[in-house]
Amino acid sequence: MKESMTKISFFLFAVLLASASFSAQLTTAPPVPPPDHRYKADILVIVAHPDDETLITGYLARAIYDEHKRVAVLYATCGGAGGDTVSYAQGRALCAERKIEARRAMASIGITNVWFLGGLDTPSENVLNSLGHWNHGAVLERAVRLVRLTRPEVIITWIPDYVDGENHGDHQASAVIATEAFDMAGDPTVFPEQVAAPRNYEGFANLTEGLEPWQPEKLYCFSNPAHGGFMKDQGPLYSITAVSPSLHVPYYELAARSASFHLTQLPTGPEGYEATYKMALDYFKVRPVQLILAKSLVGGTTTGDVFQDIVPGPIPFHPVTGYHPQPHHGVSIELGGPWQFYRRFWRAHDLERIAHLVSPEAGVESGQTLSLPVIIRNDTSNPAKVVLTAKVPEGWNVVSGGELYPVAAHGFYPTRIVFSSPAGARPAWQTLTLHAESAGRPAGSIEFRLSYGRSGP
Ligand SMILES: [Zn+2]
Repeated sequence: MKESMTKISFFLFAVLLASASFSAQLTTAPPVPPPDHRYKADILVIVAHPDDETLITGYLARAIYDEHKRVAVLYATCGGAGGDTVSYAQGRALCAERKIEARRAMASIGITNVWFLGGLDTPSENVLNSLGHWNHGAVLERAVRLVRLTRPEVIITWIPDYVDGENHGDHQASAVIATEAFDMAGDPTVFPEQVAAPRNYEGFANLTEGLEPWQPEKLYCFSNPAHGGFMKDQGPLYSITAVSPSLHVPYYELAARSASFHLTQLPTGPEGYEATYKMALDYFKVRPVQLILAKSLVGGTTTGDVFQDIVPGPIPFHPVTGYHPQPHHGVSIELGGPWQFYRRFWRAHDLERIAHLVSPEAGVESGQTLSLPVIIRNDTSNPAKVVLTAKVPEGWNVVSGGELYPVAAHGFYPTRIVFSSPAGARPAWQTLTLHAESAGRPAGSIEFRLSYGRSGP
């Protein structure tokens, strides 16, 4: 026993000695490298096509030159379906051109961090068409990566809504992606490979990305100023005729210079840059930049400056409400398609401010048809038969869809009502109403605004 105790004591002594000498040899590990400051942005702009940014370039120039903000831009598509007023180049060839146009336009106001998210330019007014055609998940994954890389306090995008005159499905889809990236980039369980530490950052073949989660603070959007009545007082308004204190030129000149690089997209394209610039001066001079505050996680007033109450540096992750099914009772009808999506999207992403801005509407050219998606719901325990009828403005007709619909118990019936508009009438706002009736009793109605005779994305 005594001999074994001696052996143990000797062993412990030897271990202590070894660990002491190991401690004495410890060197300090190198610090974890900080995020690359060259890519830090104060504002990240997320839009659909090269030239979408022109509606807010006057504000961006102010932020860059006179407020010393850093700006980066993400284009969800490269605009291959946009047409080319300079040459025959179309499709992927046009994409190649428009990427250069965008980079030159942005460089003209000091923006060099410009990325393309790989979505396919999709001519449609339906946001769901664009998201599907883009491969929604792949584009979102790239957007979240670039939010984590650029670490913006502010994101500016299109309005996530169907607004007559500003209804390009791609514009809306870029706003959906921007909103989702705003809400997801701070969550380390979203695209976790992006925030996993690299195996050996000084070596090669690191497949995890070593970024950090990032929570932006404010989300702003913009829309078409031609249909801008609803935007008034919904966010800050920036003068475009004000003169930049640092550059001594009005902001509209900077906006016009920048926009003139998008030659393929402008009616003066073949005439060259200077002709385009002269035209753009007249265009931008009368277009102040109206932003809409979509949401803020740090306070500030609705119409206050974009950077009012912005907190420098990282803020904690802010989970959004997420999707929760809404209760329904009896037999009812609701707008389907994009309108159904947006009702859920705004609620899930805490965009109540956007939800109340524009009532459901669409633009219809004279003599064209309108196809309105409708969901008939039956939240009772018995099968139902539902009749849809429409009250239409003078000259309009129901082409198809006003029928008797069998709807299973606890089921729904998605359908479309197609309307034809009269040819040659004067442009005007009009209203059509859909009524549902089941077992001789009213089962809900839908009012829909029509901007007749002056539509177009
Ligand atoms: Zn566009």
